[in-house]
Amino acid sequence: MNETKKCPKCEEHKPLTAFYSCDRSYCKSCERTAANERMHQYNKTLRGKASQALQTSRKTIRRNSYHVKDDLTVDQIVEVFDFFDSTCAYCEQPITGKVSIDHIIPLKNGGANTQSNIVVSCISCNTKKSDKEIAERFDSTKQKEISNYSAYVRGDDVLVDVLASYIQKIIEEKKAS
Ligand SMILES: [Zn+2]
Ligand SMILES: [Zn+2]
Repeated sequence: MNETKKCPKCEEHKPLTAFYSCDRSYCKSCERTAANERMHQYNKTLRGKASQALQTSRKTIRRNSYHVKDDLTVDQIVEVFDFFDSTCAYCEQPITGKVSIDHIIPLKNGGANTQSNIVVSCISCNTKKSDKEIAERFDSTKQKEISNYSAYVRGDDVLVDVLASYIQKIIEEKKAS
């Protein structure tokens, strides 16, 4: 016999195969709708936006087979966001839409996916400036701010030195060209 069960959400009587398991009250379709709605709401929160940005950075690393250190977490992205007072590192406008991560030392140049090597930016600035080097992207004041920021990040003194010499190298290359 075809046993059916009533889903209290859509109020339809459906076969048991329409439920993920017999102890779930909502049908599969209603559970999927509810999950999508929860994800939609989560993606609008700061943590949700940070999580999307993290996934995007991991995709870039995978797609290009970059061998870089990668221990970035959603909490750390939220901290960076707070550090920059919820504004874009480039245009300094409040970030209201999607959050994107920008790597101070670009991933393609061996920069790590770590808290001390990222800033947050609005999507529009990230799209415009993603391939440019740090000396082209930031004026000296901003470079100092970014260095201070890296120093602020706990326990990554080594990277601050790496960053300082990297910035110096870029500036010298700019002068030479
Ligand atoms: Zn249902
Ligand atoms: Zn911006």
